[in-house]
Amino acid sequence: MSEPEIEYSANGPSKGLDTISLLSSDDRLKGRPLLCSDCGLCDSSLKDLMSKSCVFVRNQTQEIEQRLHGRNRQDGDELRFGIFRAQYAARMRRPNPKAQWSGIVTSLGARLLEEDKVDAVITTGAAPGTRFKAEPILARTPEEVRATAGNKPCLSPNLNLIDATRDQSIKRLAFIGTSCQVHQLRAVQDELGLEKLYVIGIPCSDNVTYPDLEYFLSQISRSPKTVIHHEFMQDFSLWLRHEGGKVERVNYVDFPMDKLHGIFPSACLSCFDYPNTLCDLTVGYMGAELGWQWLLVRTETGEELLEILRPDLEFTELTEDGDRSRGMPRYMERLTLPPGAKRPPFLIRKLVAYLQRKKGAKGLEFARAIIEMKLLRNLNYVRSKFARFESRIVPYHVYDALEPYSEAYEQRFERPLTAAETK
Ligand SMILES: Cc1cc2nc3c(=O)[nH]c(=O)nc-3n(C[C@H](O)[C@H](O)[C@H](O)COP(=O)(O)OP(=O)(O)OC[C@H]3O[C@@H](n4cnc5c(N)ncnc54)[C@H](O)[C@@H]3O)c2cc1C
Ligand code: SF4
Ligand code: SF4
Repeated sequence: MSEPEIEYSANGPSKGLDTISLLSSDDRLKGRPLLCSDCGLCDSSLKDLMSKSCVFVRNQTQEIEQRLHGRNRQDGDELRFGIFRAQYAARMRRPNPKAQWSGIVTSLGARLLEEDKVDAVITTGAAPGTRFKAEPILARTPEEVRATAGNKPCLSPNLNLIDATRDQSIKRLAFIGTSCQVHQLRAVQDELGLEKLYVIGIPCSDNVTYPDLEYFLSQISRSPKTVIHHEFMQDFSLWLRHEGGKVERVNYVDFPMDKLHGIFPSACLSCFDYPNTLCDLTVGYMGAELGWQWLLVRTETGEELLEILRPDLEFTELTEDGDRSRGMPRYMERLTLPPGAKRPPFLIRKLVAYLQRKKGAKGLEFARAIIEMKLLRNLNYVRSKFARFESRIVPYHVYDALEPYSEAYEQRFERPLTAAETK
């Protein structure tokens, strides 16, 4: 597949360093708030509802949880993972080799059409002529859903298909998407006139625009143009699979952060729903052992979704090991380093990568660790760049989930963890 040629600056990412950044200079995005993840709602006829539904105007997690579950999160794992009825480690008995993992998500979308449970599935394909440029698809056949297997790891305006679902009189819909999309979808759900909505969520963090994804690959891989699949794995390294099957592994600690600083949109750095908590069924991997997927069943509809695919799934135990709290003080220290600081010397990085693999958190403890780290990093980002917005866009569970570190937080950042001062 041929990719369009992109020129990269030798000096840094496309938006420059430490810039508060909207997504791109795309004309479509003119007039959007500074925080926008291009979820697609503002491209639809529902754009006037943006101020009432956008997660970056007012985070409505608490209200949506009440509507979906009749309650908010309880202490314990719900503070990090969101409200769930059951969680599993599973994978397809016959994995799809083109899928991101084993293909649970696209198999489920296809099955919903095969069993006539829905009229259409909103999913994300690749734009013609590219491998990874995200293009929202309103799939009407199982084959169309299966053809969207695999991540296009960049922002995708999936909600721009809301108008097409209305134009095609679709009454039963499945939506596959990221957490910001799901928040907005839940907020406008009652306007859609649907008889049934299935929401399949994928965990999402640190997403980027397509040009910045290309830039990222050019900085990380020895052969960026031959990468056909890549994933941030639970063994603290990025695996990149190339044409021909070769797998390149890059330890997280070896990422050239001085060159990558600035590629993440402000919206993704102000996002507090890594595990996609407002969907019916989350399908990720980060709480499961390597080779397995992590499923969180959240609602009755989520239970129905799991049952539909159960005959095609194999299951294993969810496990956990390590102690995430040990890494947090060092992580806080790293957050105080100047943006784009150079990475440590090679031998130190080698030792850190070894220790992370040997002694680092594993299984569910790994998921807890990285969710907490992203909550903390993003809270600090909002406080440094969008302080006025904190009371509107930082949801309640962030403070509850990070409470065990409140003393260390206060010492390190010389301010309380709680939002009291900013509200
Ligand atoms: C940007 C991004 C970051 C992610 N980060 C994590 C993570 O940190 N931890 C974790 O556990 N899981 C993460 N995931 C989810 C994970 O990588 C897999 O997508 C998920 O586990 C499903 O695998 P599968 O084999 O069942 O999917 P497949 O059957 O291969 O289907 C993939 C599905 O992903 C959807 N999709 C692809 N690209 C996009 C996009 N840009 N926006 C919206 N939907 C898209 C497609 O619609 C398709 O239905 C991330 C996904 C994305 C897109
Ligand atoms: S994130 Fe979505 S709803 Fe919010 S401003 Fe951007 S396109 Fe509009
Ligand atoms: S990181 Fe958050 S804001 Fe960015 S695309 Fe993913 S869910 Fe949306």
